[in-house]
Amino acid sequence: MGLDRGQRLLTALEGGYGDAADALRINGYAMSRERLLGAATALAERVAGAPALAVLARPTAETVVAVVGGLLAGVPVVPLPPDSGPKERGHILGDSGASLLAVGGGDAPVEGVETFRVELDAHSGGSFAEPAPERTAFVLYTSGTTGAPKGALIQRGAVAADLDALAAAWQWTAEDTLVHGLPLFHVHGLVLGVLGALRTGSRLVHTGRPTPEAYAGARGSLYFGVPTVWSRVAADHESAQALASARLLVSGSAPLPVPVFERLAALTGRAPVERYGMTESLITVSTRADGERRPGSVGLPLDGVRTRLVGEDSTAVPHDGETVGELQVAGPTLFAGYLNRPDANAESWTADGWFRTGDVAVIGPDGFHRIVGRASVDLIKSGGYRIGAGEVESALRDHPAVADAAVVGAPDPDLGQAVVAYVVADGAVTGDQLTAFVAERLSVHKRPRRVVLVAELPRNAMGKVLKKQLLDLA
Ligand code: ATP
Ligand code: MG
Repeated sequence: MGLDRGQRLLTALEGGYGDAADALRINGYAMSRERLLGAATALAERVAGAPALAVLARPTAETVVAVVGGLLAGVPVVPLPPDSGPKERGHILGDSGASLLAVGGGDAPVEGVETFRVELDAHSGGSFAEPAPERTAFVLYTSGTTGAPKGALIQRGAVAADLDALAAAWQWTAEDTLVHGLPLFHVHGLVLGVLGALRTGSRLVHTGRPTPEAYAGARGSLYFGVPTVWSRVAADHESAQALASARLLVSGSAPLPVPVFERLAALTGRAPVERYGMTESLITVSTRADGERRPGSVGLPLDGVRTRLVGEDSTAVPHDGETVGELQVAGPTLFAGYLNRPDANAESWTADGWFRTGDVAVIGPDGFHRIVGRASVDLIKSGGYRIGAGEVESALRDHPAVADAAVVGAPDPDLGQAVVAYVVADGAVTGDQLTAFVAERLSVHKRPRRVVLVAELPRNAMGKVLKKQLLDLA
């Protein structure tokens, strides 16, 4: 089995890494790369020529075989969230045009699509030619934080460019063991967390679930997590200290609160690396393995990625570390467009070919990026002021009894929008006490008009706060 299979997207599948029987350990199931390639090739022979292959993306070895098989065959892979209801599944299957669905043992067939079971013991030594870089590798659905999930067309070339830029930024090599327990239907867990390991040749341990105990027991050199995972690790001293031997702890998919950054750094002796990206542009900005790691900052654009800030009137915003603007992105990691969404495509691209992220950011004179939040929900316009929800959230989190906080702009007849805070408190504290606490830290117009204590914040599988739901409450 050699490089003649020509699948350079998955370079390390074909190098000399096939020997270790546990090159991949997915939720307790160990596989060599050789075995993965044999099973995936058999699957590729079955699905070749299909318009798209849907995969019921549980965190299992079957999912990894199905995804790699689809990529070998050059068939666009469409991961389905395993907990999605019939409506979401129906939408994704219909929208993507997938005619086949790969499932693991124990999963029932899904109506309206030919369902087949992935065989881990199948083997084929056949080969497929390398599909062109413009071919679609994935149709990845966005997380649906700001509206209905959109199908983003991700080309093979974008995946390769992204993974190579990341490997360079993080000095990620075949010497590494990557550990994570993230969902396999999202760019983070799947594209970075599985293909990244296959392309760099590193060992992969998927812990099934992203718990502090599982992370601590896995002995990785490289760990991926979302902020909720890191917040749990930081609250579990023993597990956090077990990660002291890791080389990099990487946080992404949502903002990493500064107190979590600091606790993690203190307990592990390692400042975490924060990265920013999105389904549409994969990973865009990240702190580097050998560079400065600054709390509250996501670092510098990856190699080949260009970013700029644009004001509301389409003017350029200075990179002065203070002025906010919409973050726009260009470069080889960008997606090719949304499937069946001419409206979203028209809104998302500028005339000169930049992608509008919909996120608001600040860029410093040294190029370091700080993500303020989403233009649609995190930029609150109140009484003529523009207020970043994140700044108010940070002020609330400074209170020792505050475990979590989310701030929204609720419609207000007088102010346009009023600052409303939802707070999870882990001690005896009242809304009035918190209002008084932040009053010492924030100027008058930024102070919450209302502080609502809640048991928990609504979050999706990636740990993102669902602010739309909070707005409905407000
Ligand atoms: P939808 O586009 O459907 O509303 P979504 O934007 O949450 O959902 P994703 O593509 O999964 O879907 O998430 C990308 C978004 O996550 C970014 O646009 C940004 O708002 C947020 N994000 C990712 N990483 C970070 C980070 N390190 N700091 C702050 N925000 C981040
Ligand atoms: Mg988005």
